[in-house]
Amino acid sequence: MMDLNGKNAVVTGSSRGIGKAIALKLASLGANVAVVYAGNREKANETVAEIEKLGVKAKAYSCDVSSLNDAKNLVIEVIADFGGIDILVNNAGVVKDGLVLSMKEEDFDRVINVNLKGSFNMIKSTYQHFMKKRRGRIINISSVVGINGNAGQANYASAKAGIIGLTKSVAKELAARNITVNAIAPGYIETDMTNSMPEKAKEAALAAIPMKRIGQGEDIANTAAFLASDEASYITGEVIKVDGGMAI
Ligand code: NAP
Repeated sequence: MMDLNGKNAVVTGSSRGIGKAIALKLASLGANVAVVYAGNREKANETVAEIEKLGVKAKAYSCDVSSLNDAKNLVIEVIADFGGIDILVNNAGVVKDGLVLSMKEEDFDRVINVNLKGSFNMIKSTYQHFMKKRRGRIINISSVVGINGNAGQANYASAKAGIIGLTKSVAKELAARNITVNAIAPGYIETDMTNSMPEKAKEAALAAIPMKRIGQGEDIANTAAFLASDEASYITGEVIKVDGGMAI
Protein backbone atom coordinates (compact mmCIF):
# COMPACT_ATOMS: atom_id res chain seq x y z
CA MET A 1 0.00 0.00 0.00
CA MET A 2 1.57 3.28 -1.12
CA ASP A 3 2.10 5.73 1.73
CA LEU A 4 3.43 9.30 1.40
CA ASN A 5 2.62 10.38 4.94
CA GLY A 6 4.78 13.29 6.09
CA LYS A 7 6.37 13.76 2.65
CA ASN A 8 6.43 17.22 1.05
CA ALA A 9 5.76 17.52 -2.67
CA VAL A 10 6.17 20.39 -5.11
CA VAL A 11 3.96 20.04 -8.17
CA THR A 12 4.43 22.68 -10.88
CA GLY A 13 1.36 23.55 -12.91
CA SER A 14 -1.03 22.09 -10.36
CA SER A 15 -3.72 24.77 -10.56
CA ARG A 16 -5.37 22.76 -13.32
CA GLY A 17 -5.36 19.60 -15.41
CA ILE A 18 -2.84 16.81 -14.96
CA GLY A 19 -0.86 18.70 -12.30
CA LYS A 20 -3.96 19.16 -10.17
CA ALA A 21 -4.80 15.45 -10.46
CA ILE A 22 -1.23 14.60 -9.39
CA ALA A 23 -1.35 17.04 -6.45
CA LEU A 24 -4.64 15.55 -5.22
CA LYS A 25 -3.41 11.97 -5.59
CA LEU A 26 -0.18 12.64 -3.67
CA ALA A 27 -2.23 14.43 -0.98
CA SER A 28 -4.65 11.50 -0.75
CA LEU A 29 -1.63 9.33 0.11
CA GLY A 30 -0.59 11.72 2.90
CA ALA A 31 1.78 14.18 1.22
CA ASN A 32 1.73 17.93 1.86
CA VAL A 33 1.72 19.81 -1.43
CA ALA A 34 3.15 23.09 -2.72
CA VAL A 35 0.79 24.05 -5.55
CA VAL A 36 2.74 25.99 -8.19
CA TYR A 37 0.92 28.00 -10.84
CA ALA A 38 1.71 30.68 -13.43
CA GLY A 39 -1.14 33.22 -13.22
CA ASN A 40 -4.37 31.44 -12.34
CA ARG A 41 -4.52 32.23 -8.63
CA GLU A 42 -8.21 31.35 -8.30
CA LYS A 43 -7.73 27.83 -9.68
CA ALA A 44 -4.60 27.33 -7.57
CA ASN A 45 -6.54 28.32 -4.44
CA GLU A 46 -9.25 25.82 -5.39
CA THR A 47 -6.62 23.06 -5.61
CA VAL A 48 -5.25 24.11 -2.20
CA ALA A 49 -8.74 23.98 -0.64
CA GLU A 50 -9.39 20.50 -2.09
CA ILE A 51 -6.04 19.25 -0.77
CA GLU A 52 -6.64 20.71 2.69
CA LYS A 53 -9.93 18.78 2.86
CA LEU A 54 -7.78 15.62 2.70
CA GLY A 55 -6.16 16.63 6.01
CA VAL A 56 -2.71 17.61 4.76
CA LYS A 57 -0.96 20.95 4.30
CA ALA A 58 -1.07 22.89 1.02
CA LYS A 59 -0.07 26.35 -0.14
CA ALA A 60 -0.22 28.08 -3.54
CA TYR A 61 2.88 29.69 -5.07
CA SER A 62 2.95 31.83 -8.19
CA CYS A 63 6.11 31.15 -10.19
CA ASP A 64 7.13 31.26 -13.85
CA VAL A 65 9.32 28.16 -13.98
CA SER A 66 11.06 29.44 -17.14
CA SER A 67 13.01 31.84 -14.88
CA LEU A 68 15.85 30.23 -12.93
CA ASN A 69 15.75 33.08 -10.45
CA ASP A 70 12.02 32.58 -9.80
CA ALA A 71 12.51 28.82 -9.47
CA LYS A 72 15.32 29.34 -6.92
CA ASN A 73 13.21 31.77 -4.87
CA LEU A 74 10.25 29.38 -5.00
CA VAL A 75 12.32 26.51 -3.64
CA ILE A 76 13.72 28.67 -0.82
CA GLU A 77 10.18 29.71 0.11
CA VAL A 78 8.77 26.17 0.00
CA ILE A 79 11.60 24.79 2.16
CA ALA A 80 10.98 27.59 4.70
CA ASP A 81 7.23 26.88 4.74
CA PHE A 82 7.25 23.07 4.66
CA GLY A 83 10.63 22.23 6.25
CA GLY A 84 11.93 20.39 3.17
CA ILE A 85 11.08 18.81 -0.17
CA ASP A 86 10.85 15.05 -0.82
CA ILE A 87 9.08 14.94 -4.19
CA LEU A 88 9.40 17.28 -7.19
CA VAL A 89 6.95 16.92 -10.07
CA ASN A 90 7.86 19.00 -13.12
CA ASN A 91 4.50 19.19 -14.83
CA ALA A 92 4.11 22.86 -15.90
CA GLY A 93 3.76 23.07 -19.64
CA VAL A 94 2.43 25.12 -22.54
CA VAL A 95 1.79 24.57 -26.25
CA LYS A 96 2.13 27.02 -29.12
CA ASP A 97 1.44 24.87 -32.18
CA GLY A 98 2.15 25.56 -35.83
CA LEU A 99 4.06 24.20 -38.78
CA VAL A 100 7.76 25.10 -38.73
CA LEU A 101 7.25 27.30 -41.80
CA SER A 102 4.91 29.60 -39.88
CA MET A 103 6.17 29.05 -36.30
CA LYS A 104 7.42 32.27 -34.75
CA GLU A 105 10.83 32.21 -33.12
CA GLU A 106 9.32 33.43 -29.84
CA ASP A 107 6.80 30.55 -29.89
CA PHE A 108 9.62 28.04 -30.28
CA ASP A 109 11.58 29.68 -27.47
CA ARG A 110 8.63 29.99 -25.07
CA VAL A 111 7.65 26.33 -25.35
CA ILE A 112 11.27 25.22 -24.81
CA ASN A 113 11.69 27.68 -21.95
CA VAL A 114 8.60 26.62 -19.99
CA ASN A 115 8.58 22.87 -20.65
CA LEU A 116 12.27 21.96 -20.87
CA LYS A 117 14.20 24.79 -19.23
CA GLY A 118 11.50 25.05 -16.55
CA SER A 119 12.17 21.42 -15.59
CA PHE A 120 15.94 22.10 -15.61
CA ASN A 121 15.44 25.23 -13.47
CA MET A 122 13.41 23.34 -10.86
CA ILE A 123 15.88 20.43 -10.79
CA LYS A 124 18.84 22.82 -10.48
CA SER A 125 17.10 24.67 -7.64
CA THR A 126 16.35 21.50 -5.63
CA TYR A 127 19.52 19.56 -6.52
CA GLN A 128 21.62 20.42 -3.46
CA HIS A 129 18.66 19.99 -1.13
CA PHE A 130 18.06 16.46 -2.40
CA MET A 131 21.82 15.68 -2.33
CA LYS A 132 22.06 16.69 1.32
CA LYS A 133 18.98 14.62 2.24
CA ARG A 134 20.39 11.63 0.32
CA ARG A 135 16.92 10.83 -0.88
CA GLY A 136 14.34 12.29 -3.20
CA ARG A 137 12.01 11.73 -6.10
CA ILE A 138 11.96 13.76 -9.30
CA ILE A 139 9.17 13.09 -11.79
CA ASN A 140 9.17 14.93 -15.12
CA ILE A 141 6.14 15.09 -17.38
CA SER A 142 7.18 14.46 -20.98
CA SER A 143 4.78 13.34 -23.74
CA VAL A 144 4.40 10.62 -26.35
CA VAL A 145 4.97 13.48 -28.79
CA GLY A 146 8.53 13.68 -27.46
CA ILE A 147 8.99 10.03 -28.45
CA ASN A 148 7.22 9.96 -31.83
CA GLY A 149 7.22 13.62 -32.94
CA ASN A 150 4.11 15.39 -34.23
CA ALA A 151 3.49 17.60 -37.24
CA GLY A 152 2.69 21.11 -36.03
CA GLN A 153 4.42 20.63 -32.68
CA ALA A 154 8.15 20.84 -33.48
CA ASN A 155 8.73 23.14 -30.49
CA TYR A 156 6.70 21.01 -28.07
CA ALA A 157 8.10 17.69 -29.34
CA SER A 158 11.65 19.07 -29.02
CA ALA A 159 10.97 20.19 -25.45
CA LYS A 160 9.38 16.86 -24.49
CA ALA A 161 12.18 14.84 -26.13
CA GLY A 162 14.65 17.08 -24.28
CA ILE A 163 12.91 16.23 -21.02
CA ILE A 164 13.70 12.56 -21.67
CA GLY A 165 17.41 13.36 -22.12
CA LEU A 166 17.31 15.57 -19.03
CA THR A 167 15.63 12.79 -17.02
CA LYS A 168 18.17 10.12 -17.99
CA SER A 169 21.17 12.43 -17.42
CA VAL A 170 20.06 13.65 -14.00
CA ALA A 171 19.09 10.08 -13.04
CA LYS A 172 22.71 9.06 -13.66
CA GLU A 173 24.03 12.07 -11.71
CA LEU A 174 21.87 11.43 -8.64
CA ALA A 175 21.42 7.67 -8.50
CA ALA A 176 24.19 7.09 -5.96
CA ARG A 177 22.46 9.52 -3.59
CA ASN A 178 19.26 7.48 -3.53
CA ILE A 179 17.43 10.05 -5.64
CA THR A 180 15.33 8.67 -8.49
CA VAL A 181 14.51 10.66 -11.62
CA ASN A 182 11.85 9.37 -13.97
CA ALA A 183 9.57 10.68 -16.69
CA ILE A 184 5.97 10.00 -17.59
CA ALA A 185 4.95 10.32 -21.24
CA PRO A 186 1.19 10.90 -21.35
CA GLY A 187 -0.80 10.34 -24.52
CA TYR A 188 -4.03 12.25 -25.11
CA ILE A 189 -5.39 13.41 -21.75
CA GLU A 190 -8.57 15.46 -21.26
CA THR A 191 -7.53 18.90 -19.92
CA ASP A 192 -7.77 22.59 -20.91
CA MET A 193 -4.69 22.03 -23.10
CA THR A 194 -6.38 19.39 -25.25
CA ASN A 195 -9.88 20.90 -25.06
CA SER A 196 -8.53 23.83 -27.07
CA MET A 197 -7.48 21.54 -29.97
CA PRO A 198 -9.48 21.75 -33.24
CA GLU A 199 -12.27 19.11 -33.44
CA LYS A 200 -10.52 17.35 -36.35
CA ALA A 201 -7.28 17.01 -34.39
CA LYS A 202 -9.23 15.61 -31.40
CA GLU A 203 -10.90 13.00 -33.64
CA ALA A 204 -7.53 12.02 -35.16
CA ALA A 205 -5.95 11.72 -31.71
CA LEU A 206 -8.78 9.52 -30.42
CA ALA A 207 -8.62 7.33 -33.54
CA ALA A 208 -4.90 6.73 -32.82
CA ILE A 209 -5.59 5.30 -29.35
CA PRO A 210 -5.89 1.48 -29.37
CA MET A 211 -7.85 1.57 -26.09
CA LYS A 212 -10.37 3.93 -27.78
CA ARG A 213 -10.71 6.34 -24.88
CA ILE A 214 -9.19 9.66 -23.93
CA GLY A 215 -7.04 9.50 -20.79
CA GLN A 216 -7.85 11.35 -17.57
CA GLY A 217 -5.56 13.27 -15.24
CA GLU A 218 -5.99 10.45 -12.73
CA ASP A 219 -4.33 8.00 -15.16
CA ILE A 220 -1.17 10.10 -14.98
CA ALA A 221 -1.56 10.82 -11.26
CA ASN A 222 -1.63 7.10 -10.40
CA THR A 223 1.70 6.59 -12.18
CA ALA A 224 3.23 9.68 -10.55
CA ALA A 225 2.14 8.44 -7.11
CA PHE A 226 3.77 5.07 -7.76
CA LEU A 227 7.03 6.71 -8.90
CA ALA A 228 6.97 8.92 -5.78
CA SER A 229 6.44 5.96 -3.47
CA ASP A 230 8.89 3.61 -1.72
CA GLU A 231 7.56 0.85 -3.97
CA ALA A 232 9.40 2.47 -6.92
CA SER A 233 12.72 2.94 -5.09
CA TYR A 234 14.72 0.83 -7.62
CA ILE A 235 13.35 2.54 -10.74
CA THR A 236 15.34 5.46 -12.17
CA GLY A 237 15.96 7.00 -15.59
CA GLU A 238 12.77 5.38 -16.87
CA VAL A 239 10.16 6.83 -19.22
CA ILE A 240 6.70 5.39 -18.63
CA LYS A 241 4.13 5.88 -21.38
CA VAL A 242 0.58 6.30 -20.07
CA ASP A 243 -1.31 6.56 -23.32
CA GLY A 244 -3.83 3.76 -23.87
CA GLY A 245 -1.38 2.26 -26.37
CA MET A 246 -1.12 5.40 -28.54
CA ALA A 247 2.65 5.15 -28.99
CA ILE A 248 3.05 1.36 -29.22
P1 NAP B 1 -3.02 22.65 -18.72
O1 NAP B 1 -4.37 22.13 -18.38
O2 NAP B 1 -2.88 23.65 -19.81
O3 NAP B 1 -2.33 23.21 -17.38
C1 NAP B 1 -1.05 23.77 -17.45
C2 NAP B 1 -0.54 24.07 -16.07
O4 NAP B 1 0.79 24.58 -16.16
C3 NAP B 1 -1.35 25.13 -15.34
O5 NAP B 1 -1.39 24.82 -13.97
C4 NAP B 1 -0.54 26.40 -15.57
O6 NAP B 1 -0.74 27.41 -14.57
C5 NAP B 1 0.87 25.84 -15.50
N1 NAP B 1 1.86 26.68 -16.18
C6 NAP B 1 1.87 27.09 -17.46
N2 NAP B 1 2.95 27.85 -17.71
C7 NAP B 1 3.65 27.92 -16.55
C8 NAP B 1 4.85 28.56 -16.16
N3 NAP B 1 5.56 29.30 -17.02
N4 NAP B 1 5.28 28.43 -14.88
C9 NAP B 1 4.56 27.69 -14.00
N5 NAP B 1 3.42 27.05 -14.30
C10 NAP B 1 2.97 27.16 -15.57
O7 NAP B 1 -2.05 21.44 -19.15
P2 NAP B 1 -2.17 19.85 -18.94
O8 NAP B 1 -2.84 19.28 -20.12
O9 NAP B 1 -2.66 19.54 -17.57
O10 NAP B 1 -0.62 19.46 -19.06
C11 NAP B 1 0.21 19.25 -17.94
C12 NAP B 1 1.54 18.68 -18.43
O11 NAP B 1 1.30 17.46 -19.12
C13 NAP B 1 2.25 19.59 -19.44
O12 NAP B 1 3.65 19.51 -19.25
C14 NAP B 1 1.86 18.99 -20.76
O13 NAP B 1 2.80 19.30 -21.77
C15 NAP B 1 1.86 17.51 -20.40
N6 NAP B 1 1.09 16.67 -21.31
C16 NAP B 1 -0.25 16.87 -21.48
C17 NAP B 1 -0.96 16.04 -22.34
C18 NAP B 1 -2.42 16.18 -22.56
O14 NAP B 1 -2.97 15.45 -23.41
N7 NAP B 1 -3.12 17.04 -21.83
C19 NAP B 1 -0.29 15.02 -23.03
C20 NAP B 1 1.08 14.86 -22.85
C21 NAP B 1 1.76 15.68 -21.97
P3 NAP B 1 -1.96 28.49 -14.67
O15 NAP B 1 -3.21 27.74 -14.34
O16 NAP B 1 -1.61 29.51 -13.65
O17 NAP B 1 -1.95 29.01 -16.07
